[in-house]
Amino acid sequence: SYNPAGRIRRIKPSPSTVAADRANELRRQGKQIVSLVVGEPDFDTPAHIRKAAAYAMDHGATRYTSMRGTQELREAIAAKLKRENALSYGVDEIIVTNGAKSAIYSALAATVDVGDEVIIPAPYWVSYPDMVLACDGTPVTISCGENHGFKLSPGQLEEAITPKTRWLLINSPSNPTGASYTAAEYRALADVLVKHPHVMVMTDDIYEHIRFDGKPTPHLLNAAPELRDRTLAINGVSKTYAMTGWRIGWVAGPRTLIGALDTLLSQSAGTCCAVSQAAATAALNGDQSFIVESVAIYKQRRDAILPLLNAIPGLSCQAPDGAFYLFVNCAGLIGKTTEDGKRIETDNDVVLYFLDTFGVALVAGAAYGLSPYFRLSIATSLEALTEGVERLARATATLR
Ligand code: PLP
Repeated sequence: SYNPAGRIRRIKPSPSTVAADRANELRRQGKQIVSLVVGEPDFDTPAHIRKAAAYAMDHGATRYTSMRGTQELREAIAAKLKRENALSYGVDEIIVTNGAKSAIYSALAATVDVGDEVIIPAPYWVSYPDMVLACDGTPVTISCGENHGFKLSPGQLEEAITPKTRWLLINSPSNPTGASYTAAEYRALADVLVKHPHVMVMTDDIYEHIRFDGKPTPHLLNAAPELRDRTLAINGVSKTYAMTGWRIGWVAGPRTLIGALDTLLSQSAGTCCAVSQAAATAALNGDQSFIVESVAIYKQRRDAILPLLNAIPGLSCQAPDGAFYLFVNCAGLIGKTTEDGKRIETDNDVVLYFLDTFGVALVAGAAYGLSPYFRLSIATSLEALTEGVERLARATATLR
């Protein structure tokens, strides 16, 4: 028949994409929707990066590049890892990918065999479990509650590891909570990992620069250099430089794993866009002031919106360390009844109620593996955020 493969039937479309599509559909119907769904910076890519891309396009960046990425970009990534993370990687230990998303998927596809387990602390980025399922692996999600700062504890890690464990996936600062591991917390997790040499670690560092304490984000490999030969450090330019549309990410890791990725990507995705690679090189090598400026704006929004949210009866939210989301606890709304007599049972009900009755689009915590919460993106204007939160206040006030 014309049905998709089992690996497709096991997974679902990204819930944030679904939520954004639904908000757009309501907009087309003429509704005034405030969408607090998106997971991308609301800024344009800085001008010097766009100029470098235009220049490259006019000067020959129109062909396939080398499979692992241009020499210039891999050198820029190696220099960045040294400069910002105090990590040493040669250009032969780096591969450029079509965004961090494809980096993570390809790394799983290159290493996960049927039934291999991947430990994913929840709440997690929506794509992780489905990526594992698409690679015939078994996602092992571990609930990391608000009382533990939404972070994995060494005890939880120890308990989750089995002989089938292939990977631990760590995302810090995290989407959706903004939680960020300290060097000491990394060291404690590493103390567990050293007892289990068969477990590899993927660090998704995509939000490393978006943090609000002005300090550099610690890396697992700074706290535990002995894990280097079984760690893949994944990152990209999307969030740091407002370059989501350019699709450049990368993986740094031991040669054998990078070689496996090279083999897979050379037979599937092929090389990354040459123009985008030139743009990413300019981003990494050029003026970094955009990062400071954009993070200051995210912080201003976070600090403006948090007290308004926390003043709404039934909602509460801790200040995130980083990333550009608020992960809001809505336990106080569960069990309430809407004006038209519908009982709110889950965070999905909360989010549907906010959207259908008050025109605010959010993503339910269920999508991230922890309920009852919803994720609110602060990568949007302060006016939209203020309007959105005012609507949430009105919406909750009408619940009985
Ligand atoms: N990892 C996390 C945690 C993300 O939130 C995202 C984007 O939403 C990505 C990776 C993917 O980033 P990229 O645009 O580089 O594919």
